[in-house]
Amino acid sequence: MKPIDTTRWSEGKVTALRQWTEALYSVQVQADVEPFQAGQFTKLGMVIDGEFIERPYSYVNPPGARTLEFYFVTVPDGPLTQKLTGLHNADTLWVKRKAAGFLTLAEIPPARHLWMLATGTGIGPFLSILQTAEPWNRFERIVLVHAVRFAAELSYRETIEALREQHPGQLEYIPFVSREDTDFALSGRVPAAIVDHSLEQAAGLAINPDLSQAMICGNPAMVDETSRILQERGLLRNRRRTPGHITVENYW
Ligand SMILES: Cc1cc2nc3c(=O)[nH]c(=O)nc-3n(C[C@H](O)[C@H](O)[C@H](O)COP(=O)(O)OP(=O)(O)OC[C@H]3O[C@@H](n4cnc5c(N)ncnc54)[C@H](O)[C@@H]3O)c2cc1C
Repeated sequence: MKPIDTTRWSEGKVTALRQWTEALYSVQVQADVEPFQAGQFTKLGMVIDGEFIERPYSYVNPPGARTLEFYFVTVPDGPLTQKLTGLHNADTLWVKRKAAGFLTLAEIPPARHLWMLATGTGIGPFLSILQTAEPWNRFERIVLVHAVRFAAELSYRETIEALREQHPGQLEYIPFVSREDTDFALSGRVPAAIVDHSLEQAAGLAINPDLSQAMICGNPAMVDETSRILQERGLLRNRRRTPGHITVENYW
């Protein structure tokens, strides 16, 4: 194995590992990283069987926080996630110093309403953004949609509740649970709920290109399908050269 390049990688120390469900975890780590923008991702790395394995993960914490946080799901036979779950306090977790990615508010054109649509661990970058001042100053209303299979997978509810209390009337949190019935979440999937307008009814807001910006993160099938449905509603993909309304990040 080549030596780890410490100009690019910071030797972080784990300060906490929180288990939410059998497969969902958050890891907190202290590491010396370069400034990043809320919504960006960095890479985490570990030496596994003599090999350095690195994977991208979104920051959950806002920029400037002393402790870095990452939210991940274990993947069966996934080389890195199988090892992340065995971390203990004070263990080494390498963090790439320089962050990357365009799922940031700097990329989002002005609008009245911001829709943040996440599946599973894709909620992470939105939590980072919502813990900064910018979205609250820029958007009248923000809708945070979190789509999961089981209600127990709706992590970070205390964080979201605290944000709702800090910004009364500005944040709508809409959970979707697809594989069990609940008395509080929408059932089924996000694209279908856009088609039949049940998402807009739940939010009390219409989605249209004059009002809305949408950020979508997580499972690529959901990202593609939601993006396609939003395009049928007149929203356009947001690109640097041709600004639009839909900004996406795929996790695989
Ligand atoms: C820009 C970017 C940001 C990412 N941020 C995160 C994050 O914040 N949290 C996170 O858990 N993952 C995130 N990922 C995925 C992450 O990098 C790893 O792929 C994942 O943690 C699995 O690592 P692994 O080595 O165990 O398995 P891998 O060999 O990397 O993955 C094996 C397979 O697992 C599936 N998979 C990967 N990630 C997920 C996931 N999040 N949910 C469900 N299935 C998945 C895919 O089918 C993938 O092909 C991100 C990926 C990208 C490209």
